[in-house]
Order: sequence, then structure tokens, then C-alpha cells
Amino acid sequence: MKELGHFINGKLVSGTSGRFDDVFNPATGEVQYQCPMASAAETTDAIEKAAAAQPAWGATNPQKRARVMMKMVALMNRDMDKLAEALSREHGKTIPDAKGDLQRGLEVVEYCIGAPQMLKGEFTDSAGPGIDMYSMRQPLGVVGSIMPFNFPAMMPLWHVGPALACGNAVVLKPSERDPSVPLMLAELFVEAGLPEGVFQVVNGDKEAVDTILDSEIIQGVSFVGSTPIAQYIYSRATANGKRAQCFGGAKNHMIVMPDADLDQAADALVGAGFGAAGERCMAISVAVPVGEETADKLIEKLIPRIEKLKVGPYTAGDDVDLGPVVTAASKERILGLIQSGVDQGATLVVDNRDFKLQGYEDGFFVGAHLFDHVTPDMDIYKQEIFGPVLSTVRADSYEDALKLAMDHEYGNGTAIFTRDGDTARDFASRVNIGMVGINVPIPVPLAYHTFGGWKKSMFGDLNQHGPDSFKFYTRTKTVTSRWPSGIKEGGEFNFKAMD
Ligand code: NAD
Repeated sequence: MKELGHFINGKLVSGTSGRFDDVFNPATGEVQYQCPMASAAETTDAIEKAAAAQPAWGATNPQKRARVMMKMVALMNRDMDKLAEALSREHGKTIPDAKGDLQRGLEVVEYCIGAPQMLKGEFTDSAGPGIDMYSMRQPLGVVGSIMPFNFPAMMPLWHVGPALACGNAVVLKPSERDPSVPLMLAELFVEAGLPEGVFQVVNGDKEAVDTILDSEIIQGVSFVGSTPIAQYIYSRATANGKRAQCFGGAKNHMIVMPDADLDQAADALVGAGFGAAGERCMAISVAVPVGEETADKLIEKLIPRIEKLKVGPYTAGDDVDLGPVVTAASKERILGLIQSGVDQGATLVVDNRDFKLQGYEDGFFVGAHLFDHVTPDMDIYKQEIFGPVLSTVRADSYEDALKLAMDHEYGNGTAIFTRDGDTARDFASRVNIGMVGINVPIPVPLAYHTFGGWKKSMFGDLNQHGPDSFKFYTRTKTVTSRWPSGIKEGGEFNFKAMD
């Protein structure tokens, strides 16, 4: 069985803790690697080595740091197929979707090429008599990144890219479910010219994470994952005096108004609900048709679309719509929630509970499911299922639909489908959710805007990527400067005799 390692000071190294976790191929159910779980001592060692490497990197001029980003973009494009294959093999998503995961990460690296521009400070000439005032944005030092399984390329790159571009060293703790791509990205960064030790990858679990959270060297922590862990990380990191941005779970509603193009809405719901087997924090998991007639028509359009979705392994080619979920435990949890929906009185309109894929019986496949008549008290409505399950909650009016989305504890993304500009504008203005789509089901902002939810989907204030990331990964220092009068007044140009 192949053992993965950690990436320390520019090299892959073996784990020494003696603890390992299985990395599965979700399509076959087979264990493909043993991933080492770092001890506190190994994690501390990686942090200390990062601290030794950071000052020189922080003092490297931003343009040179940007050139590493430029080269990284080229290297990722060169290795795109290899990276996508490794990603799909551990995550389960289709190859085109894996490339999307890589591409959306790469776009943030591209954005980071603008680091010299982003890091320019402010300057006030003559703030007082002979006084100038200027501010600089300086790196924090060593930062920690703790990442989820569902975007093993995009999520680390959203954090590592800006953190490095700002002159920090990073200790990344990837998800133990799919650690290979983060290790490959670390190797590529070194090939791109990043000095050794500036980007360390420590594989592990709570022991490694808690070591990062308690380390006096670590100055900032970024986390992406489920809400209970986000809340835990935020509390512990900030109690230890670090800045933290922690992004949590989601339950994204898509409101379908009676005037919407229902074919377009149904297509959008199927893609946003079932793509990546629903394992996206921006997946639409709740459809909210407004009015009984809209609901009946929408369900009628959804059923055939969902029934013809092709579930399969990433190796089966481009016509596969969704792959397996990430682990057997995840599959069990999803099937348990589906059963709870039936038991609590929702109507299971598309039922694939018996789904088995011939030749892949041990894979973690879950067929696509559609519920109708879901109500807010049901577990399938309250919880993030993170699987291929779309719930329909029928609303009587626009106000009811808006209230539903606003009352949910999560506030990551939402969408409205309508032909009416006034309704769309009202929705975007009033809804208490971080990212809003208008006739766009998955409104993931591009690299030069910022990404973040509200309510229980985010703890902290600065968002991921865009200008916020440059703020998060730097500290402002403001200098007030006055120089005593010098040579310009006192200079003597004539030959002067002694008094
Ligand atoms: P997770 O919370 O289980 O794990 C995330 C990370 O936390 C992993 O690195 C894991 O090792 C670590 N971790 C887990 N338990 C821990 C503990 N008790 N103490 C310390 N560290 C711990 O999340 P996941 O299953 O990997 O990812 C899926 C979740 O991530 C979903 O809820 C999804 O919505 C969310 N997500 C959110 C965003 C966003 O931007 N809001 C983006 C992607 C994913």
C-alpha cells in the first residue's frame, strides 16, 4: 500500500507518527493510499521551518513573488490532465468537474499576479508641516490553512495563492480524504520558484489542526469546512489571539417565480443540485417554487431530467453527470437523511434508494433524489445533506419564499429565477445571504470579487479571494514621518574661512 507523505522544506517526507488514515477511490471503494496523520511534534517542526523561511520571502519584492504565481499558472496548465485525474480518483467527481475545480483555483493564482498593485500602500504628502504619512501592507508571517475535501485544488489555492503573494509562509492541512492534489500543488509551487519551506503541507487530523491553532508562531488561520468545525476553529484561533476567517456549511435555496422560464429553471436546478453529487457548498439543495401551479409544473419538468442523470465513475467518460460521494460513511449519512425525509412525511418523487452500479457495487454511489412537499421542520430541510438530494418547499408567495431563505441558519448562496427585474432587485437587496444569483443558480464570484457567506456559513469578516484576501493576509502599518531640516538649508557652497 502506497504511503503518502508531508511536504516539508521543498520535499515529500514520510510521516513518523505511526498513525495513518485510508484514502479511498470512492468509485471502487478500494483503499488506494495510506495518508499519514501528523503528530503535534511533526506539525510544530513544519511550522518552525516555515517561520525560518518566511522573512526572506516576505522581503522579496512583490513583483518577484508575482512571477512565481505566473509560472505556477503555466505549470498547472501543463499538468492539468494529471492533476484532474488524481483529483477525480480521490474525490470521485467527473474529470470535467475536476478541471473546473482546478481552473477556479488557478484563476485566483492568476489574480495574485496583481500582488504588486494590491500591496501598494497609501501616502499622504504633508499631513502636517514637514510631515508625511504612509501605510504599508506587510505579511502576517506564518499562516495556517485547514481545508475541506470537496474542492481539493480550488480551496487550498484560494488561500495559499493570496497568502504567498502577500509574503507569508503557509502551513496547509488538506483534507485527509483527498490529500494528493495539494501535495502535487506544493511541488509545482517549488518548481515555479517558491523558496523551500515557504509552503508546507502537513497531512493530518485534529492533532495537527489543534497544533496549528495553539502555535504562537501562527498569526492567521483560514478554515473551510462544516459549520460546527468552523465555529470551533474560529473560537480557538481567536482566543489564541490570531486572526481567523472560517467558512462553513450551506443550505442554498433557489426561488422560482411564476414568471420564470421553467425549462431554464429546471435545467439550472438539476445542474446545481446534482453536479459533483451535491458535494458543493454552493449546490442548490432547496427549490422554492412560488405558487402551486409553478410547483406542479416545475416538478413535472424536473422528474424526467433527474431520472435520466447518469451516475458513474470518472473513468466512464464525459457523459457521466455525477460520480460517487466521498466515503461510505457519507453515503450512509445521506441515505439515513433520505429515510428521515420519508418518515417525516415528505414525498419522495424520484427515489433511487436501491441504486447500485453494476461492476462498482463497492463504490460509494448514491442515485439522484427529488423530494416534494418538504417543510421547514424536517431534518432534510434543516441539515446540509451534501449529497444528490434536492428538496422542494412550496411557497405561497414571494414574501414567504424570501422569508424561508432568510430564516434558515445558513446564508452561503441563493438564487432567484424570474423575468421581473423589480422582484430580482428586491430579492438581492433584502436577502440576508452572502452570494446571490439572478437567473444564475451557482453564483460563485470570480477571483477579483470575494467569496463568503453570512450567518452560520461564515465566522470572521474578510472573505475569500479578491481584495479581502489581500487584507486578510497582511497587516497595516502606518508611518508618520518628519525629518529635521538638513543639508538643503545648511549647505554652504562658498569657501568659508574659520571664524
Ligand atoms: P469538515 O468540517 O469535516 O473538515 C474540514 C477540515 O477540518 C478537514 O481538514 C478536517 O481534517 C478538519 N477537521 C475535521 N474535524 C475536526 C476537528 N474536530 N478538529 C479539528 N479539525 C477538524 O468538512 P468536509 O466534510 O471536509 O467539507 C465539507 C463541508 O465544507 C461542507 O459543510 C461544505 O458546505 C463546507 N464548505 C464550505 C465552503 C465555503 O466557502 N463556505 C466551501 C467548501 C466547503
